[in-house]
Amino acid sequence: MEARNIGVKVSNPPAKACDDVHCPFHGAITCRGRLYEGVVTSTKRQKTVTVRRDFLFKVKKFKRYERRNSKQSVHCPPCIDVSVGDAVVFMETRKISKTVASVVIENKSAGKGLAVAAVKDDDKEAQA
Ligand SMILES: [Zn+2]
Repeated sequence: MEARNIGVKVSNPPAKACDDVHCPFHGAITCRGRLYEGVVTSTKRQKTVTVRRDFLFKVKKFKRYERRNSKQSVHCPPCIDVSVGDAVVFMETRKISKTVASVVIENKSAGKGLAVAAVKDDDKEAQA
């Protein structure tokens, strides 16, 4: 099954298919609203990841910005592989569960994590 056009440009759409109804590419969910970027901090739950988002908040009184962050639960369909530390793009959807109302549409670190792991292995061999 080919990935559906979700209306947003995705540089690496999922190569494999899935049968998740809440997948924007293969299921019935529609992405709409705002687009966010964040870093995955947990992948322990099934089809849901925790994402940390850093942003700047303007403090009017001092005319300066302060750094803030928020963590939120984001649905992650099985056709998109993510691991902790990956930078992901996610988009608002309708409410999927009590705490989930957005879905991962792209893993920006896809493939890069493996390269880093390979380099680490080489280092170990060099030391041994
Ligand atoms: Zn899918």
